[in-house]
Order: sequence, then structure tokens, then C-alpha cells
Amino acid sequence: MSEVTPASNPPVAPKKMEDIVALCRRRGFIFQSSEIYGGINGFWDYGPLGTSLKRNLKNAWWNDVVERELIGPDGTAVDIVGLDSSIIMNPKTWVASGHVGGFNDPMVDCKESKSRYRADHLVVLGAVEAGARLYAYIENDDEQKAQAAKSLAKYEKRDTLDPARHVLRAFPTITAEERARTFGPNAKEVGTLTEARQFNLMFETNCGAIRDENSLAYLRPETAQGIFTNFWNVCDSTRVRVPFGIAQIGKAFRNEVTPRNFTFRSREFEQMEIEFFIRPETADEWYKWWRDWRFAWWQKIGLAGENLILREHDRDELAHYAKVGAGTSDIEYRFPFTSPGYGELEGIAHRADFDLKAHATHCGKGEKMRYFDQEKNERYFPHVIEPSAGADRGTLALLCEAYTADSSRASGVYMDFSPRMAPVKAGVFPLVNKDGLPEIAERLFKDLRKKHAVEFDEKQSIGKRYARMDEAGTPFCITIDHDGAASGTATVRHRNTQAQERVALDQIPQFVADRVGD
Ligand code: ATP
Repeated sequence: MSEVTPASNPPVAPKKMEDIVALCRRRGFIFQSSEIYGGINGFWDYGPLGTSLKRNLKNAWWNDVVERELIGPDGTAVDIVGLDSSIIMNPKTWVASGHVGGFNDPMVDCKESKSRYRADHLVVLGAVEAGARLYAYIENDDEQKAQAAKSLAKYEKRDTLDPARHVLRAFPTITAEERARTFGPNAKEVGTLTEARQFNLMFETNCGAIRDENSLAYLRPETAQGIFTNFWNVCDSTRVRVPFGIAQIGKAFRNEVTPRNFTFRSREFEQMEIEFFIRPETADEWYKWWRDWRFAWWQKIGLAGENLILREHDRDELAHYAKVGAGTSDIEYRFPFTSPGYGELEGIAHRADFDLKAHATHCGKGEKMRYFDQEKNERYFPHVIEPSAGADRGTLALLCEAYTADSSRASGVYMDFSPRMAPVKAGVFPLVNKDGLPEIAERLFKDLRKKHAVEFDEKQSIGKRYARMDEAGTPFCITIDHDGAASGTATVRHRNTQAQERVALDQIPQFVADRVGD
């Protein structure tokens, strides 16, 4: 007798990053920067659909953080104001913040392949015995990992590796003698990897006509310091009182040693940062509240499910300023290239009074810069809770989450964006280009366009038009057919189910409006 198995959903194949990157290129979400010249490593351009997607993400953040009512832990509205500070700041800013002295990554060069690696991103595979050959590869790079295992097995003339002898170690933990018998990724000779040396990630530039030490400046590596240096200006020019926050969206630049994983680790990227200023004794309460609200926010905009996690840092991972603080946590997403692991989307940290104090000291005014609490009649440096998110990593997570292979439809794939994030909210099509259908469709399109990003398409078959919209992630396709023209209705096709319903033409603007909010 055959065994009866319960009905189950067919297994879902893991998403492949190359498919997602190809769709991004094909449909104009993301292109390589200056592609016609062969591109430039670590820089990306957003095409028309990608620009709208990223803008929807940033607008949702700005609306929810700065503009809409947000109720805090004590049941009253949270006070947050906006800021747009400059990318190039007085270089003393970066001395005070610690970036000039300490914003370093350990870098390793391969003398043979001329490639450069982050030492802490390299792992080494090899036998534990003295004198054995070792093989380095970039962690999470499945191809390099397979190559290293193959080379090692071939060298030792065996089919499989022995977990008791063949171990994996972090590159920074190996000795110089071991390095001398290590193959770098894609290297044919041993011993071509250099010792790790510290490399400052800030991009340097010069201001003005003379290029010397005095004109040296930096492109900001984070937007946060623009907020800290404006703390006093904002206090003096507005009515804010602690607790309050300053929010900013803007570009940041880091000369990453090994930009990789599509836009995940870029050299130019955008941050969405909040510095929330509080009384020190309220740090625990505010830290927990921000951490939980930010996690719920990413879920609300479409990253609900097991790919999103909230990870509290272990004590020994904490940055120097956070050691005594209420905590640090990351909101992480399981990208196809990190799976089964996760990559950081946003960090939430209690930075204590580190930054305000550092700027007060470095600008020479010191204790005079303490905030004056009128109610309590006391002076202090407020503590800070910092939720710091990446707009590019957020956009990439939305793209990865939305990508849904579906062999039942013409496009073979659809992008399951939440209606609020979708670059195009609705497509409007006349079924055929005659019999008065284009005129009705165009009238509806113009009406919808007053409020929403919608597209009119009268080219090709209706199936191809649906397929284009599926790849763009458009939640609704509205078609005017002959029945509809006669009865004053249109069919509305739902992207995910492909189900269609007939809706009266004059109801459609409300139908769309009801569904594309949050
Ligand atoms: P990582 O450890 O991945 O380098 P980080 O901890 O240095 O990141 P933060 O300094 O906390 O990152 O920056 C805040 C946010 O800015 C990150 O959560 C991420 O979303 C974004 N971010 C940082 N570096 C990059 C980068 N090179 N490319 C794209 N986004 C980035």
C-alpha cells in the first residue's frame, strides 16, 4: 500500500541573485554606473523603475518618521524634525567623530591577481598539519568556496574533505608562516597575499584651487555627523525640547575595499538616519521602543516574513561608545547572497553622549555646549538613540523579496511589491486600438494620473502588456474592453492572483486610492 502524504505546496526554488540582477538591468531598475565605459566598481545608477521604487521607500520613511503622527512609549506624539546638511563638512568634524583616526578596514592585496580584499571577509580552508597548503576565499562566495575545496581535494588526491582535518579559519587569525603557504582566491602561486594593513575608508578631496594639506576635505562617510553638528542650531531655531529627534536622508561615501553583492556594499550610497536626543535615564525605554518600531516598519512596507530578523548584538561586538549603553541591534535581511545568513539593513544603537560631547570638546566650547533643560533647570549632554538605515540596501531587499518566479505566466516572473512601494500603481489599457476604447482608457488614465503613478499602454497584445506590468510589479491592470465600453466598466486584473473583476469606471479612482496607501 502506498503511503498517503498530506497535500503540500510545491517546493519553492531559492531565488538566484543573477536572475534578480538581470531583471533589474532589463527592466530599468538598476544599471551599472557609466556602463558604456565598462562601469566603475562600487557605483550604481537607478533607472526609471528603480528610481521610483527607491523614492517610494525614502518617502515612506520620511512620511512615517517626520510628517505623520508617531506615538512614543509614553503615549504622546514623538517630535522629529528634518535636516539636509552638506556632504563636505569642515574636516575637524571627522577628527572629532573618530573617523580620521579610526574609520579603517583591514586590507589585503594579492600580488599575483592584483585583487584587493577585506581581510575580515577572507576565510582560509586547509588541513591542520604543519606545512599543509591553505586556500583562501571570500566568505559567502559559493563559486570560490567550491573552487578552494576542489583544489584542496585535488592536491591531497582525495574525493572528499575530512571535517576532522580540513578546517576553516578567519584569515586575520592565521600566522605569517601560514600565510606564506596560502593560495589567494584565483591565484596559482602560494604566498601572494600581503599582510593586512589598515585602510581609511573616507574619500578625500580638496576644496579650492590649491591642492595641499590645508585644502584637504572628505566626502561624508555617514549623514549622522551633519545632524550632531547642527544639534545646537536646531535647538536655537525651533521649539524642540528633549526628547526629540533630527532625521536626514542623504548620500554617504565609503571607499570600500571590496564593493560587492550588487548594491549591498557600494562606495556611494544613501542613508536614512535619525538621531533621537533623550535624557540619559530614559535610554532603555527609548532604545527598546525605537528598535521595535523600526523592525515593525520594515515589515509594514513589505519585508514581513522569515527573511527579516532583529538581532541584538553580543556585548563583545559593541562599538566603544555603546559598551555601557542600553544596547545595539541590527535589522537584517536574508539576501540570496547571504543566505542562509543575513545582511544588515539598519542598525539601532544607543550612542550615549559620545558624539555631542566629542564635538563640544573639539570645537573648544566644552561644557558650555550642554543642553539646558528648562523644566528641570539643569544642564547635560543628551544621550542619543540612533536608528541608521540604508536606502540602497532597503531597495535591494524590496527587490529580492518581491522577485517571484511563476512559470504559469508569460513573463515567467512577477514582482510582488506592496502597493505603497510599487513604482507603478496601475496600468491602463484599451483592449484594441479602435471602437472608441483608446479614448475611454485615456480619459481614465488622465484622471488616475492626478494622484497616482500610472501608465498607459496601447502597444502589443494584452498578454504582453500584462507581462510588462508583472515585471514592473504593478499591482493592478485596468483594461477597457467592448463590454466595458458599453456598460461603463473596466476589468481590473490583480497582479498576484491574475484574477479579474469588473469595476464601474467612476469607481476606479477610489478603488485604486483605497489600495495604494499603507
Ligand atoms: P557594514 O558592517 O555592512 O559595512 P556598517 O555597520 O558599517 O555596515 P553603518 O555604519 O551602521 O553600517 O551604516 C548604517 C547603514 O548604512 C547600514 O545599515 C547600511 O544599510 C548602510 N550602509 C553602510 N555601508 C554601506 C555600503 N557600503 N553600501 C550600501 N549601504 C551601506
